[in-house]
Amino acid sequence: CGIVGYVGCEAALDVVIEGLERLEYRGYDSAGVTVLNGGGLATEKRAGKLANLKKTLTDFPLPTASVGIGHTRWATHGGPTDANAHPHLDDARRVAVVHNGIIENFAQLRAELAERGHTLRSETDTEVVAHLLGEAFTGDLAEAMRGVCRRLDGAFTLVAVHSDSPGVVVGARRNSPLVVGRGDGENFLASDVAAFIAHTRDAVELGQDQVVELRREGVTVTNFDGTPATVREYHVDWDASA
Ligand code: GLU
Repeated sequence: CGIVGYVGCEAALDVVIEGLERLEYRGYDSAGVTVLNGGGLATEKRAGKLANLKKTLTDFPLPTASVGIGHTRWATHGGPTDANAHPHLDDARRVAVVHNGIIENFAQLRAELAERGHTLRSETDTEVVAHLLGEAFTGDLAEAMRGVCRRLDGAFTLVAVHSDSPGVVVGARRNSPLVVGRGDGENFLASDVAAFIAHTRDAVELGQDQVVELRREGVTVTNFDGTPATVREYHVDWDASA
């Protein structure tokens, strides 16, 4: 129900958790995070309130990282369990993905992946995206995301990281919101500007069927077919505390 992504020089985990807290009002049943540093991906996810996740992260700290993604889930496919919480990983644990919405053709995609030897570890519609991204990745995560999105039906906001794409967060959207926050040497992704408004009020609203590649230095937006996209840039001038 809430999504946050961050790339910059602050501790990504703190920025992501704080962003998820600002989206808590939307309601959720589980929460999870993945951080990406030179050593690869580290993921923690828990059913229940963010407080559960935060307690686990205190007991078993994740490595320091400057790239991170986070999710609060409102279950549609698969009950609210630790295993069904996002982020979801591929078999090689090199891709992590979070998702808001519903992948309508997930059953067919699951069957195809199982036939190709993948092991699906959750009951969610979301997990197929992690495996498909793992298969599609040849060095360019945004390119892999565009290819995978062209195969998905339904409504989705997706945000992903790959251990072989250090410093990169990729997002995509169809029939579900995704907003970029532009900072100075740092950039944010979220399902709602409330998640990052304490850091920046310079926002970019993604259009329908677009993919964004987020790096510290900048943001690149393309359509699902790879052509450059037109986006709406705006300044958030309402009071976030109101
Ligand atoms: N359909 C996905 C699931 O059930 C995402 C739900 C959401 O939007 O949080 O895991």
